[in-house]
Amino acid sequence: MTVGEPAPSPLLDYEPQWQQTLQWQPTPEQQTLFQRVYEAILQGNQQMNLTRLTDPDTFWEKHLWDSLSGLAPWLTSIGAPAWATARATARVIDIGTGAGFPGLPAAIAFESWQITLLDATQKKVRFLTESAESIGLKNVRAIADRAEFLAHQPSHREQYDLALLRAVGPVPTCLEYALPLVKVGGVAVLYRGQWSDEDSRNTAAVAQQLGGKLLSVASSQTPLTQGVRHCVYVGKHTLTNEDFPRLPGIPAKLPLTPQN
Ligand code: SAH
Repeated sequence: MTVGEPAPSPLLDYEPQWQQTLQWQPTPEQQTLFQRVYEAILQGNQQMNLTRLTDPDTFWEKHLWDSLSGLAPWLTSIGAPAWATARATARVIDIGTGAGFPGLPAAIAFESWQITLLDATQKKVRFLTESAESIGLKNVRAIADRAEFLAHQPSHREQYDLALLRAVGPVPTCLEYALPLVKVGGVAVLYRGQWSDEDSRNTAAVAQQLGGKLLSVASSQTPLTQGVRHCVYVGKHTLTNEDFPRLPGIPAKLPLTPQN
């Protein structure tokens, strides 16, 4: 904050909401880290366009809660599906992370996970590297690159236990970015809004072309404004053909179709 500017209002702790929806609660240390992320983003917003969602309740619901709701299968072992085995030292990539969502809340909630934040915009990545350092998040690194390039590098290809994607594009585009980066046995987590049975059928068909298999679709409501959310989990079953992802821009311009 620059001198003379009012300090941002603190985020409420929302204990009952965390508990009721995700059967999880942040520790006081995690609460402090959430607050630091919030402050870093408000500050960064003065230099660049990071997010429009800046009032404390909206930030909590649309960024913090939403980011962790997709990770519900790993937050609590009670009732977790078989494919969400406890991953003590998971390698996780957040593709198209923007201002750091869902990757930054994931790094705070899962201290033993190694989180890679990937974004094509250099400016955002510089902000993320500096913020992770000033907040004190040691399990975060940020990389400026396009998913289509990174996924062909041996040090990244099929190296991640989880890939997270929120607001990055149509499902087939997201799958083409994500599945080449995920290890066999790993999972791509797609954060979506509305969802239909037809979406599930298309997702299953496109996932299959990339070595993936639709595992589950979880539906939820955001706790403060009752917005519709779906989280789509796609498992990696076999190695992805080297042809994928296609050249930069192609997965977005010509998304794979169920018939390919
Ligand atoms: N996940 C964040 C940001 C979404 S905006 C959130 O939900 O708040 C989409 C982001 O994806 C942008 O920052 C954009 O730079 C990035 N992006 C889009 N296509 C990409 C690609 N092919 N490789 C890497 N990053 C990409």
